[in-house]
Amino acid sequence: MAVMKFGGTSVGTARAMQQAISIVAREEKKGTPLVVLSACSGITNKLVHIADAAGCSALDEAMALAGEVRSFHLKLVDELIKNAALKAGLASTIEQLCGRLEMLIKGVDIVGELTERSRDMFCSFGELFSTTVFAAAMKELGHNVAWVDARTVMITDDNFGFARPLDEVCEAKVNQIIRPLLAKGTTVVTQGYIGATKDGRTTTLGRGGSDFSAALLGAWLNDNSIQIWTDVDGVMTTDPRLVPEARSIRVMTFSEAAELAYLGAKVLHPDTIAPAVQKNIPVYVLNSLHPDAKGTIITNDPERLSGMSYEGLVKSIAVKKGQCIINIRSNRMMGRHGFMNELFDVFSRYGVSVEMISTSEVSVSLTVDDKSFSNELIQDLKSIGDVEIEHNVATISVVGDNLRMSRGVAGRIFSALKNVNLRMISQGASEINVGFVVEEPEVAIAVNNLHKEFFSAPEDHAIFETPAGSR
Ligand code: ADP
Ligand code: ASP
Ligand code: MG
Repeated sequence: MAVMKFGGTSVGTARAMQQAISIVAREEKKGTPLVVLSACSGITNKLVHIADAAGCSALDEAMALAGEVRSFHLKLVDELIKNAALKAGLASTIEQLCGRLEMLIKGVDIVGELTERSRDMFCSFGELFSTTVFAAAMKELGHNVAWVDARTVMITDDNFGFARPLDEVCEAKVNQIIRPLLAKGTTVVTQGYIGATKDGRTTTLGRGGSDFSAALLGAWLNDNSIQIWTDVDGVMTTDPRLVPEARSIRVMTFSEAAELAYLGAKVLHPDTIAPAVQKNIPVYVLNSLHPDAKGTIITNDPERLSGMSYEGLVKSIAVKKGQCIINIRSNRMMGRHGFMNELFDVFSRYGVSVEMISTSEVSVSLTVDDKSFSNELIQDLKSIGDVEIEHNVATISVVGDNLRMSRGVAGRIFSALKNVNLRMISQGASEINVGFVVEEPEVAIAVNNLHKEFFSAPEDHAIFETPAGSR
Protein backbone atom coordinates (compact mmCIF):
# COMPACT_ATOMS: atom_id res chain seq x y z
CA MET A 1 0.00 0.00 0.00
CA ALA A 2 1.10 3.56 -0.65
CA VAL A 3 0.18 6.97 0.71
CA MET A 4 0.13 9.45 -2.17
CA LYS A 5 0.18 13.13 -1.26
CA PHE A 6 -0.51 15.71 -3.95
CA GLY A 7 0.50 19.33 -3.27
CA GLY A 8 -1.30 22.54 -4.21
CA THR A 9 -0.09 22.86 -7.80
CA SER A 10 -0.70 19.14 -8.40
CA VAL A 11 -4.42 19.72 -7.72
CA GLY A 12 -4.62 23.43 -8.63
CA THR A 13 -6.50 23.17 -11.95
CA ALA A 14 -8.91 20.74 -13.63
CA ARG A 15 -6.04 19.50 -15.81
CA ALA A 16 -3.76 19.01 -12.82
CA MET A 17 -6.49 17.05 -11.02
CA GLN A 18 -7.01 14.84 -14.08
CA GLN A 19 -3.28 14.20 -14.22
CA ALA A 20 -3.18 13.38 -10.46
CA ILE A 21 -6.12 10.98 -10.90
CA SER A 22 -4.27 9.19 -13.70
CA ILE A 23 -1.26 8.80 -11.38
CA VAL A 24 -3.55 7.36 -8.69
CA ALA A 25 -5.05 4.99 -11.29
CA ARG A 26 -1.56 3.60 -12.07
CA GLU A 27 -0.97 2.97 -8.37
CA GLU A 28 -4.37 1.27 -8.00
CA LYS A 29 -3.11 -1.47 -10.32
CA LYS A 30 -0.50 -2.34 -7.65
CA GLY A 31 -2.59 -1.90 -4.49
CA THR A 32 -5.21 0.38 -2.96
CA PRO A 33 -3.72 3.77 -2.10
CA LEU A 34 -4.56 6.40 0.48
CA VAL A 35 -4.64 9.79 -1.27
CA VAL A 36 -3.86 12.89 0.81
CA LEU A 37 -4.46 16.28 -0.77
CA SER A 38 -3.48 19.89 -0.15
CA ALA A 39 -5.77 22.78 -0.95
CA CYS A 40 -5.63 23.99 -4.57
CA SER A 41 -2.63 26.31 -4.93
CA GLY A 42 -3.20 29.82 -3.61
CA ILE A 43 -6.38 28.93 -1.72
CA THR A 44 -4.86 28.62 1.78
CA ASN A 45 -3.18 32.03 1.34
CA LYS A 46 -6.55 33.46 0.35
CA LEU A 47 -8.20 31.90 3.40
CA VAL A 48 -5.53 33.48 5.63
CA HIS A 49 -6.38 36.87 4.06
CA ILE A 50 -10.07 36.26 4.60
CA ALA A 51 -9.43 35.44 8.28
CA ASP A 52 -7.31 38.57 8.75
CA ALA A 53 -9.88 40.76 7.00
CA ALA A 54 -12.74 39.32 9.08
CA GLY A 55 -10.71 39.85 12.25
CA CYS A 56 -10.13 43.54 11.58
CA SER A 57 -13.69 44.46 10.59
CA ALA A 58 -13.01 44.50 6.83
CA LEU A 59 -16.22 42.54 6.24
CA ASP A 60 -16.68 43.58 2.61
CA GLU A 61 -13.15 42.55 1.72
CA ALA A 62 -13.54 39.18 3.47
CA MET A 63 -16.85 38.49 1.70
CA ALA A 64 -15.42 39.50 -1.69
CA LEU A 65 -12.48 37.10 -1.21
CA ALA A 66 -14.86 34.34 -0.14
CA GLY A 67 -16.74 35.02 -3.39
CA GLU A 68 -13.48 34.40 -5.28
CA VAL A 69 -12.97 31.11 -3.42
CA ARG A 70 -16.53 30.08 -4.37
CA SER A 71 -16.19 30.94 -8.05
CA PHE A 72 -12.76 29.26 -8.28
CA HIS A 73 -14.15 25.94 -7.05
CA LEU A 74 -17.39 26.16 -9.01
CA LYS A 75 -15.36 26.72 -12.18
CA LEU A 76 -13.17 23.75 -11.26
CA VAL A 77 -16.28 21.57 -10.89
CA ASP A 78 -17.63 22.86 -14.18
CA GLU A 79 -14.43 22.02 -16.04
CA LEU A 80 -13.86 18.67 -14.40
CA ILE A 81 -17.23 16.96 -14.06
CA LYS A 82 -19.26 15.94 -17.14
CA ASN A 83 -22.31 14.22 -15.66
CA ALA A 84 -25.01 16.87 -15.10
CA ALA A 85 -26.51 15.32 -11.96
CA LEU A 86 -23.10 14.79 -10.36
CA LYS A 87 -22.09 18.33 -11.30
CA ALA A 88 -25.23 19.80 -9.70
CA GLY A 89 -24.77 17.72 -6.52
CA LEU A 90 -21.14 18.74 -6.21
CA ALA A 91 -21.92 22.41 -6.86
CA SER A 92 -24.43 22.29 -4.04
CA THR A 93 -21.82 20.75 -1.67
CA ILE A 94 -19.43 23.59 -2.62
CA GLU A 95 -22.24 26.09 -1.92
CA GLN A 96 -22.79 24.54 1.52
CA LEU A 97 -19.09 24.81 2.37
CA CYS A 98 -19.07 28.42 1.14
CA GLY A 99 -22.15 29.13 3.27
CA ARG A 100 -20.25 27.86 6.33
CA LEU A 101 -17.22 29.97 5.41
CA GLU A 102 -19.42 33.07 5.14
CA MET A 103 -21.08 32.33 8.47
CA LEU A 104 -17.65 32.10 10.04
CA ILE A 105 -16.65 35.45 8.51
CA LYS A 106 -19.76 37.11 9.91
CA GLY A 107 -19.27 35.49 13.33
CA VAL A 108 -15.68 36.71 13.63
CA ASP A 109 -16.71 40.15 12.38
CA ILE A 110 -19.41 40.42 15.06
CA VAL A 111 -17.09 39.24 17.85
CA GLY A 112 -14.43 41.62 16.50
CA GLU A 113 -11.59 39.25 17.28
CA LEU A 114 -9.76 36.55 15.36
CA THR A 115 -8.50 33.75 17.62
CA GLU A 116 -5.99 31.09 16.55
CA ARG A 117 -8.84 28.64 16.89
CA SER A 118 -11.03 30.45 14.36
CA ARG A 119 -8.02 31.00 12.07
CA ASP A 120 -7.65 27.20 11.86
CA MET A 121 -11.34 26.91 10.99
CA PHE A 122 -10.83 29.33 8.09
CA CYS A 123 -7.70 27.54 6.87
CA SER A 124 -9.34 24.12 6.91
CA PHE A 125 -11.74 24.96 4.07
CA GLY A 126 -9.08 24.70 1.31
CA GLU A 127 -8.46 20.99 1.81
CA LEU A 128 -12.17 20.30 2.33
CA PHE A 129 -12.90 21.87 -1.08
CA SER A 130 -10.05 20.18 -2.97
CA THR A 131 -10.74 16.67 -1.63
CA THR A 132 -14.49 16.97 -2.22
CA VAL A 133 -13.96 17.86 -5.88
CA PHE A 134 -11.20 15.28 -6.39
CA ALA A 135 -13.16 12.39 -4.89
CA ALA A 136 -16.20 13.26 -7.03
CA ALA A 137 -14.05 13.39 -10.17
CA MET A 138 -12.60 9.96 -9.31
CA LYS A 139 -16.08 8.59 -8.76
CA GLU A 140 -17.23 9.89 -12.13
CA LEU A 141 -14.33 8.06 -13.76
CA GLY A 142 -15.49 4.81 -12.17
CA HIS A 143 -12.99 4.51 -9.30
CA ASN A 144 -14.07 2.79 -6.10
CA VAL A 145 -13.39 5.75 -3.80
CA ALA A 146 -14.37 7.05 -0.35
CA TRP A 147 -13.94 10.59 1.00
CA VAL A 148 -12.82 10.62 4.61
CA ASP A 149 -12.89 13.71 6.83
CA ALA A 150 -9.34 13.87 8.25
CA ARG A 151 -10.78 15.38 11.43
CA THR A 152 -12.16 11.96 12.35
CA VAL A 153 -8.67 10.43 12.18
CA MET A 154 -6.02 13.12 12.75
CA ILE A 155 -6.78 13.79 16.41
CA THR A 156 -4.45 16.46 17.78
CA ASP A 157 -3.66 18.60 20.81
CA ASP A 158 -5.21 22.08 20.94
CA ASN A 159 -2.12 24.00 19.88
CA PHE A 160 -4.07 25.79 17.12
CA GLY A 161 -1.97 26.70 14.09
CA PHE A 162 0.70 24.15 15.00
CA ALA A 163 -1.20 21.17 16.37
CA ARG A 164 0.58 17.86 16.97
CA PRO A 165 -1.16 14.47 16.65
CA LEU A 166 -2.03 12.25 19.60
CA ASP A 167 -0.24 9.24 18.16
CA GLU A 168 -2.06 6.37 19.83
CA VAL A 169 -5.52 7.83 19.33
CA CYS A 170 -4.78 8.51 15.67
CA GLU A 171 -3.39 5.05 15.02
CA ALA A 172 -6.53 3.50 16.50
CA LYS A 173 -8.75 5.77 14.35
CA VAL A 174 -6.76 4.90 11.22
CA ASN A 175 -7.24 1.19 11.97
CA GLN A 176 -10.93 1.72 12.61
CA ILE A 177 -11.80 4.08 9.73
CA ILE A 178 -9.22 3.99 6.93
CA ARG A 179 -7.70 0.49 7.04
CA PRO A 180 -10.99 -1.41 6.50
CA LEU A 181 -11.81 0.71 3.44
CA LEU A 182 -8.39 0.09 1.91
CA ALA A 183 -8.65 -3.62 2.77
CA LYS A 184 -11.77 -3.96 0.67
CA GLY A 185 -10.16 -2.18 -2.26
CA THR A 186 -11.66 1.31 -1.78
CA THR A 187 -9.23 4.14 -2.51
CA VAL A 188 -9.45 6.70 0.29
CA VAL A 189 -9.20 10.45 -0.37
CA THR A 190 -8.57 12.66 2.64
CA GLN A 191 -7.21 16.08 3.58
CA GLY A 192 -3.65 16.86 4.54
CA TYR A 193 -2.85 19.67 6.98
CA ILE A 194 -6.07 19.56 9.03
CA GLY A 195 -7.14 17.65 12.11
CA ALA A 196 -9.34 18.10 15.18
CA THR A 197 -9.02 18.00 18.94
CA LYS A 198 -10.62 15.12 20.84
CA ASP A 199 -13.70 17.28 21.35
CA GLY A 200 -13.99 17.99 17.63
CA ARG A 201 -12.50 21.50 17.27
CA THR A 202 -10.73 21.94 13.93
CA THR A 203 -6.93 22.31 14.07
CA THR A 204 -4.09 22.64 11.53
CA LEU A 205 -0.57 21.22 11.61
CA GLY A 206 1.12 24.41 10.35
CA ARG A 207 1.66 25.75 6.84
CA GLY A 208 2.87 23.15 4.35
CA GLY A 209 1.68 20.47 6.78
CA SER A 210 0.11 18.09 4.23
CA ASP A 211 3.48 16.37 3.74
CA PHE A 212 3.53 15.74 7.49
CA SER A 213 -0.05 14.36 7.41
CA ALA A 214 0.92 11.94 4.64
CA ALA A 215 4.01 10.72 6.50
CA LEU A 216 2.04 10.22 9.72
CA LEU A 217 -0.70 8.30 7.95
CA GLY A 218 1.89 6.20 6.12
CA ALA A 219 3.55 5.32 9.42
CA TRP A 220 0.25 4.47 11.16
CA LEU A 221 -0.75 2.25 8.24
CA ASN A 222 2.79 0.85 8.05
CA ASP A 223 2.68 1.41 4.30
CA ASN A 224 5.45 0.40 1.97
CA SER A 225 5.88 3.87 0.49
CA ILE A 226 5.08 7.51 1.14
CA GLN A 227 4.87 9.41 -2.13
CA ILE A 228 5.06 13.21 -2.12
CA TRP A 229 3.85 14.39 -5.54
CA THR A 230 4.85 17.99 -6.21
CA ASP A 231 5.80 20.37 -9.04
CA VAL A 232 9.55 19.62 -9.33
CA ASP A 233 11.53 16.45 -10.13
CA GLY A 234 12.13 15.52 -6.51
CA VAL A 235 14.54 17.07 -4.06
CA MET A 236 17.05 19.05 -6.07
CA THR A 237 20.56 20.32 -5.58
CA THR A 238 18.95 23.64 -4.65
CA ASP A 239 15.68 25.50 -5.25
CA PRO A 240 15.32 25.49 -9.07
CA ARG A 241 13.61 28.87 -8.83
CA LEU A 242 16.92 30.31 -7.66
CA VAL A 243 19.28 28.24 -9.82
CA PRO A 244 17.78 26.99 -13.09
CA GLU A 245 20.69 24.52 -13.47
CA ALA A 246 19.66 22.71 -10.27
CA ARG A 247 19.52 18.95 -10.75
CA SER A 248 17.36 16.36 -9.11
CA ILE A 249 18.91 14.09 -6.49
CA ARG A 250 18.28 10.37 -7.01
CA VAL A 251 18.75 9.19 -3.46
CA MET A 252 19.23 10.77 -0.04
CA THR A 253 19.46 9.53 3.52
CA PHE A 254 16.75 10.40 6.02
CA SER A 255 19.16 12.61 7.94
CA GLU A 256 20.13 14.61 4.85
CA ALA A 257 16.50 15.13 3.88
CA ALA A 258 15.47 16.14 7.41
CA GLU A 259 18.36 18.58 7.71
CA LEU A 260 17.55 20.12 4.32
CA ALA A 261 13.88 20.51 5.15
CA TYR A 262 14.61 22.13 8.52
CA LEU A 263 17.08 24.45 6.86
CA GLY A 264 14.48 25.78 4.44
CA ALA A 265 14.05 23.50 1.39
CA LYS A 266 10.31 24.03 0.95
CA VAL A 267 9.88 20.86 -1.11
CA LEU A 268 9.36 18.87 2.14
CA HIS A 269 7.72 19.96 5.38
CA PRO A 270 10.42 19.60 8.07
CA ASP A 271 8.42 17.12 10.15
CA THR A 272 7.84 14.70 7.25
CA ILE A 273 10.90 12.56 7.84
CA ALA A 274 10.48 11.55 11.51
CA PRO A 275 7.43 9.26 11.05
CA ALA A 276 9.05 7.64 8.00
CA VAL A 277 12.29 6.98 9.92
CA GLN A 278 10.35 5.49 12.80
CA LYS A 279 8.84 2.79 10.58
CA ASN A 280 11.66 2.79 8.03
CA ILE A 281 9.33 3.62 5.12
CA PRO A 282 10.95 5.09 2.01
CA VAL A 283 9.75 8.57 1.02
CA TYR A 284 9.56 9.26 -2.72
CA VAL A 285 9.46 12.87 -3.90
CA LEU A 286 7.97 12.90 -7.39
CA ASN A 287 6.79 15.33 -10.05
CA SER A 288 3.12 15.11 -10.98
CA LEU A 289 3.91 16.96 -14.23
CA HIS A 290 6.51 14.30 -15.18
CA PRO A 291 5.23 11.14 -13.51
CA ASP A 292 7.82 9.00 -15.31
CA ALA A 293 10.82 10.98 -14.07
CA LYS A 294 12.63 9.12 -11.30
CA GLY A 295 12.41 11.81 -8.62
CA THR A 296 14.12 11.27 -5.27
CA ILE A 297 14.11 8.28 -2.92
CA ILE A 298 14.76 9.10 0.73
CA THR A 299 15.83 5.99 2.58
CA ASN A 300 18.36 4.44 4.94
CA ASP A 301 18.27 1.14 3.05
CA PRO A 302 21.97 0.29 2.53
CA GLU A 303 21.22 -1.60 -0.69
CA ARG A 304 19.54 1.37 -2.31
CA LEU A 305 22.17 3.74 -1.01
CA SER A 306 25.08 1.57 -2.10
CA GLY A 307 24.10 1.64 -5.76
CA MET A 308 24.31 5.41 -5.50
CA SER A 309 27.54 5.96 -3.61
CA TYR A 310 28.41 9.60 -3.85
CA GLU A 311 31.91 10.93 -3.44
CA GLY A 312 30.93 14.59 -3.71
CA LEU A 313 30.80 16.71 -0.60
CA VAL A 314 27.56 18.61 -0.85
CA LYS A 315 24.17 17.06 -1.61
CA SER A 316 22.09 20.20 -1.63
CA ILE A 317 21.94 23.88 -0.71
CA ALA A 318 18.99 25.18 1.32
CA VAL A 319 17.86 28.76 1.69
CA LYS A 320 15.61 30.34 4.29
CA LYS A 321 14.59 33.91 3.58
CA GLY A 322 12.75 36.32 5.89
CA GLN A 323 15.23 35.95 8.75
CA CYS A 324 16.60 38.49 11.19
CA ILE A 325 19.96 38.59 13.01
CA ILE A 326 19.98 39.63 16.66
CA ASN A 327 23.41 40.49 18.14
CA ILE A 328 23.66 40.66 21.92
CA ARG A 329 26.87 42.03 23.42
CA SER A 330 27.64 42.07 27.11
CA ASN A 331 30.86 42.22 29.13
CA ARG A 332 29.02 40.18 31.76
CA MET A 333 29.42 37.16 29.50
CA MET A 334 33.16 36.93 30.07
CA GLY A 335 34.09 34.14 32.46
CA ARG A 336 30.63 34.06 33.99
CA HIS A 337 28.17 31.19 33.98
CA GLY A 338 24.41 31.50 33.63
CA PHE A 339 24.43 34.17 30.90
CA MET A 340 23.23 31.85 28.13
CA ASN A 341 20.55 30.54 30.42
CA GLU A 342 19.27 34.07 31.00
CA LEU A 343 19.42 34.81 27.27
CA PHE A 344 17.51 31.72 26.13
CA ASP A 345 15.00 32.17 28.88
CA VAL A 346 13.91 35.41 27.15
CA PHE A 347 13.37 33.58 23.84
CA SER A 348 11.53 30.80 25.56
CA ARG A 349 9.19 33.26 27.35
CA TYR A 350 8.18 34.68 23.96
CA GLY A 351 7.96 31.21 22.32
CA VAL A 352 10.51 32.30 19.70
CA SER A 353 12.67 29.61 18.16
CA VAL A 354 16.33 30.41 17.56
CA GLU A 355 17.57 29.08 14.24
CA MET A 356 21.31 29.69 13.86
CA ILE A 357 23.73 30.77 16.53
CA SER A 358 27.35 31.80 16.83
CA THR A 359 29.18 33.14 19.88
CA SER A 360 32.34 34.95 20.90
CA GLU A 361 33.57 35.78 24.41
CA VAL A 362 31.45 38.88 24.74
CA SER A 363 28.74 38.52 22.14
CA VAL A 364 26.13 36.14 20.80
CA SER A 365 24.66 36.38 17.29
CA LEU A 366 21.58 34.45 16.43
CA THR A 367 18.89 34.34 13.79
CA VAL A 368 15.15 34.14 14.24
CA ASP A 369 12.30 34.18 11.75
CA ASP A 370 11.44 37.84 11.10
CA LYS A 371 7.76 37.08 11.70
CA SER A 372 8.48 36.05 15.29
CA PHE A 373 10.41 39.26 16.07
CA SER A 374 8.72 41.66 18.50
CA ASN A 375 9.69 44.92 20.20
CA GLU A 376 8.81 43.44 23.61
CA LEU A 377 11.33 40.62 23.04
CA ILE A 378 14.02 43.16 22.15
CA GLN A 379 13.22 45.28 25.23
CA ASP A 380 13.73 42.23 27.45
CA LEU A 381 16.99 41.34 25.68
CA LYS A 382 18.22 44.89 26.28
CA SER A 383 18.04 44.21 30.02
CA ILE A 384 20.91 41.72 29.63
CA GLY A 385 23.13 43.44 27.03
CA ASP A 386 23.46 45.81 24.07
CA VAL A 387 21.26 44.64 21.21
CA GLU A 388 21.64 45.18 17.46
CA ILE A 389 19.20 43.94 14.86
CA GLU A 390 19.55 43.26 11.13
CA HIS A 391 16.41 42.54 9.14
CA ASN A 392 16.12 41.18 5.57
CA VAL A 393 18.72 38.49 5.83
CA ALA A 394 18.64 34.85 4.71
CA THR A 395 20.34 31.72 5.96
CA ILE A 396 22.07 29.53 3.37
CA SER A 397 23.13 26.01 4.35
CA VAL A 398 25.18 23.48 2.45
CA VAL A 399 24.16 19.96 3.43
CA GLY A 400 25.63 16.50 2.84
CA ASP A 401 26.52 13.43 4.92
CA ASN A 402 30.04 13.52 3.45
CA LEU A 403 30.75 16.94 4.98
CA ARG A 404 31.33 15.14 8.27
CA MET A 405 34.68 13.64 7.33
CA SER A 406 35.91 16.12 4.81
CA ARG A 407 38.68 18.63 4.86
CA GLY A 408 38.75 21.80 2.84
CA VAL A 409 34.98 22.33 2.60
CA ALA A 410 35.06 25.67 4.39
CA GLY A 411 37.84 26.84 2.07
CA ARG A 412 35.77 25.99 -1.01
CA ILE A 413 32.66 27.63 0.43
CA PHE A 414 34.42 30.84 1.31
CA SER A 415 36.28 31.10 -1.96
CA ALA A 416 32.96 30.66 -3.80
CA LEU A 417 31.54 33.45 -1.66
CA LYS A 418 34.43 35.87 -1.82
CA ASN A 419 32.28 38.62 -3.29
CA VAL A 420 29.43 38.18 -0.82
CA ASN A 421 29.06 39.99 2.49
CA LEU A 422 28.77 37.16 5.06
CA ARG A 423 26.93 38.38 8.14
CA MET A 424 27.28 35.25 10.26
CA ILE A 425 28.73 31.71 10.02
CA SER A 426 27.84 28.51 11.87
CA GLN A 427 28.40 24.77 11.57
CA GLY A 428 25.55 22.49 12.69
CA ALA A 429 26.31 20.05 15.50
CA SER A 430 25.26 17.19 13.22
CA GLU A 431 28.32 18.19 11.15
CA ILE A 432 26.39 17.57 7.97
CA ASN A 433 25.71 21.22 7.31
CA VAL A 434 27.60 24.48 7.19
CA GLY A 435 25.42 27.54 7.39
CA PHE A 436 25.86 31.25 6.99
CA VAL A 437 23.79 34.38 6.73
CA VAL A 438 23.73 36.90 3.89
CA GLU A 439 21.65 39.96 3.09
CA GLU A 440 18.59 38.96 1.06
CA PRO A 441 19.60 40.76 -2.15
CA GLU A 442 22.79 38.64 -2.20
CA VAL A 443 21.04 35.27 -1.95
CA ALA A 444 20.86 34.63 -5.70
CA ILE A 445 24.54 35.33 -6.36
CA ALA A 446 25.66 33.38 -3.28
CA VAL A 447 23.63 30.28 -4.12
CA ASN A 448 24.54 30.35 -7.81
CA ASN A 449 28.27 30.59 -6.95
CA LEU A 450 28.04 27.74 -4.45
CA HIS A 451 26.09 25.62 -6.90
CA LYS A 452 28.74 26.16 -9.56
CA GLU A 453 31.46 25.27 -7.06
CA PHE A 454 29.93 22.02 -5.82
CA PHE A 455 27.85 20.67 -8.70
CA SER A 456 29.77 21.05 -11.91
CA ALA A 457 32.12 18.06 -11.59
CA PRO A 458 31.40 15.20 -14.08
CA GLU A 459 31.32 12.52 -11.30
CA ASP A 460 28.16 14.14 -9.95
CA HIS A 461 26.16 12.77 -12.86
CA ALA A 462 25.75 9.28 -11.39
CA ILE A 463 23.55 10.56 -8.64
CA PHE A 464 21.98 13.68 -10.05
CA GLU A 465 19.63 13.97 -12.98
CA THR A 466 18.76 16.79 -15.30
CA PRO A 467 15.09 17.60 -14.64
CA ALA A 468 12.72 15.81 -17.02
CA GLY A 469 11.21 19.04 -18.29
CA SER A 470 14.54 20.31 -19.58
CA ARG A 471 15.65 17.14 -21.37
P1 ADP B 1 3.60 21.49 -2.87
O1 ADP B 1 2.53 22.50 -3.12
O2 ADP B 1 3.59 20.36 -3.83
O3 ADP B 1 3.65 21.04 -1.43
P2 ADP B 1 5.79 23.33 -2.40
O4 ADP B 1 5.63 24.64 -3.12
O5 ADP B 1 5.48 23.29 -0.96
O6 ADP B 1 4.98 22.22 -3.20
O7 ADP B 1 7.27 22.79 -2.60
C1 ADP B 1 7.82 22.66 -3.91
C2 ADP B 1 8.74 23.84 -4.19
O8 ADP B 1 9.87 23.77 -3.30
C3 ADP B 1 9.39 23.82 -5.55
O9 ADP B 1 8.54 24.41 -6.53
C4 ADP B 1 10.69 24.59 -5.35
O10 ADP B 1 10.61 25.93 -5.79
C5 ADP B 1 10.87 24.61 -3.83
N1 ADP B 1 12.19 24.10 -3.41
C6 ADP B 1 13.00 24.69 -2.49
N2 ADP B 1 14.12 24.00 -2.32
C7 ADP B 1 14.05 22.91 -3.12
C8 ADP B 1 14.91 21.80 -3.37
N3 ADP B 1 16.09 21.65 -2.75
N4 ADP B 1 14.49 20.88 -4.25
C9 ADP B 1 13.31 20.98 -4.87
N5 ADP B 1 12.45 22.03 -4.69
C10 ADP B 1 12.81 22.98 -3.82
N1 ASP C 1 -2.70 23.99 2.19
C1 ASP C 1 -1.75 24.11 3.28
C2 ASP C 1 -0.78 25.26 2.99
O1 ASP C 1 -0.86 25.89 1.95
C3 ASP C 1 -1.02 22.85 3.56
C4 ASP C 1 -0.16 22.30 2.43
O2 ASP C 1 -0.29 22.70 1.28
O3 ASP C 1 0.66 21.44 2.71
O4 ASP C 1 0.03 25.57 3.83
MG1 MG D 1 4.50 21.90 0.33
